Amino acid sequence: MTLNELISMKLGGGKLALRPGSGAMAGDEKKCLATSAGELILMAVGEDLARPGLDRTPERFAKALREICSGYTMTLADAVGEGVFPAEGKGIVSVKDVEFYSMCEHHMLPFYGQVSVAYLPNEKILGLSKIPRVVDMYARRFQVQERLTRQVADAITEAISPRAVVVKMTGSHMCMMMRGVEKQASVTTTEFAVGVESLTETEKARLYSSLS
Ligand SMILES: [Zn+2]
Repeated sequence: MTLNELISMKLGGGKLALRPGSGAMAGDEKKCLATSAGELILMAVGEDLARPGLDRTPERFAKALREICSGYTMTLADAVGEGVFPAEGKGIVSVKDVEFYSMCEHHMLPFYGQVSVAYLPNEKILGLSKIPRVVDMYARRFQVQERLTRQVADAITEAISPRAVVVKMTGSHMCMMMRGVEKQASVTTTEFAVGVESLTETEKARLYSSLS
């Protein structure tokens, strides 16, 4: 049975666009499609779908995938909410070692690690709990670490227009650890800065050192 036949059967007939249009599907259709994908993955590796241990596994896979990818349905306004406040000083604000969990878009396998953010405020600051929310909004999607790092910096810039912001991310990629080169101890570091060119050398040095 082809994928389209299986999906058509699941959805009770009707044609389904698997590519670009798939983003516009209703929630039930997405859940059904993800469940079918779970079944297909098990079939592809030679599992027996009738095995008792796999009872409802495709449904659990679909539910987990929805949580892992919940960032697609969030906006920056959702993540930041009411968490923007007037700045009371000019000092550096830093939040270090916020954990994140994301999915590599090249292998559909997880990568995870820690992200640290430091910024020099202008007139506004961001509630500290909002930084992890912004990170989660972008991490809970299919990603590459470089883009994720830049998106967090850009989102903070958009939310509070700081004088400068630096985001540093370290990630362990399951696609490198479980397969391929099998380098279990390797960590990927990415960094993205906005506005640092307008700082003095001293300010820039202090901003970067607040992340180390
Ligand atoms: Zn990968």
